[in-house]
Amino acid sequence: MEGGGKKIYEVIIIGGGPAGLTAGLYTSRSRLNTLLIEIGLLGGQMTTTEMVENFPGFPQGITGDELSHLMEEQAKRFGLEVVSQEAVEVKTDGEMKIVKADDAIYHCKTLIICTGNEWRKLGVPGEKEFTGKGVSYCATCDAAFFRDSQIIVVGGGDSALTEALYLTKFAKEVTIIHRRDALRGTKIYQERVFANPKIKLLWNSVVQEIKGDSVVRSVLLKNLKTGEITEHPAEGVFLFVGLLPKTQFLKGLVQMDEGGYILTDENGETSVKGIFAAGDCRKKLLRQVATAVGDGATAAFAAEKYLEGKE
Ligand SMILES: Cc1cc2nc3c(=O)[nH]c(=O)nc-3n(C[C@H](O)[C@H](O)[C@H](O)COP(=O)(O)OP(=O)(O)OC[C@H]3O[C@@H](n4cnc5c(N)ncnc54)[C@H](O)[C@@H]3O)c2cc1C
Repeated sequence: MEGGGKKIYEVIIIGGGPAGLTAGLYTSRSRLNTLLIEIGLLGGQMTTTEMVENFPGFPQGITGDELSHLMEEQAKRFGLEVVSQEAVEVKTDGEMKIVKADDAIYHCKTLIICTGNEWRKLGVPGEKEFTGKGVSYCATCDAAFFRDSQIIVVGGGDSALTEALYLTKFAKEVTIIHRRDALRGTKIYQERVFANPKIKLLWNSVVQEIKGDSVVRSVLLKNLKTGEITEHPAEGVFLFVGLLPKTQFLKGLVQMDEGGYILTDENGETSVKGIFAAGDCRKKLLRQVATAVGDGATAAFAAEKYLEGKE
């Protein structure tokens, strides 16, 4: 990686979800010159969440979209610079951190990694082929395409349940396929799912194949208890089978656990001095908006202290 650019940022943040936007708010407000690199939409996973009910300060809940815009506006108010690029490589040169994003090279004294999560793939025949043609990982983004349709939702956690509930506003029928005989999601979501007449549950079952022509037409399901295979008509297949941290491009730079989550100390500092991680990409107990913003604030403050120690 060649180091062409001469501007040295005090802070670079990779990822503009709630963790990155909060880190950017804090560092910009502390007058540290900060660049935030974001490949997608500012707001991260929040942009694909219909309603956030458990972020304090919004007693009636707030849409993920609105919360994203508010966080973006607040961070930019203090001068946060944002570029729409994908960070693909990070190297160190002494204490300097060098970030390659698309064709640009950036230099910084401290780096805060806030790259979050992406959906795990199911890995069955038809999944790749029909992505965007009936297979989706985001109900908020795609539900409106499935008016009066038969929908399959795969998964048993909070995302599967909330997305299934959202899909009932559009679909004729939503069938949740879950590999176990009990849901993992929060009780309040389970209650809403069981009470919704449009939602059916198929327990102990997995999707074996997604079939169709130019679009999805059906799924092959396997009952794990009996081994029986059945074909279930479906126009939409929504997959929520777990998340993976977007940290592959940082392998070998900072220490991670076996799942690819970045290991940090309580201040968010990684195994490399001056490199911090915040939000869903780090190893921690609870991955939510409230904990992401807390992480972002802590990492930003720790980065500021690190820079003060260098002066
Ligand atoms: C369907 C769904 C519903 C949810 N509902 C709730 C809820 O009700 N309440 C709640 O508190 N939480 C909820 N969550 C979880 C919450 O959204 C996450 O915990 C939170 O968004 C994590 O924030 P983050 O900033 O760490 O990461 P993310 O929100 O994942 O943001 C990471 C950002 O980094 C960007 N990025 C990644 N890699 C790169 C790269 N190499 N270069 C540039 N940019 C990059 C991504 O594009 C993304 O915008 C939900 C999540 C989902 C998926």
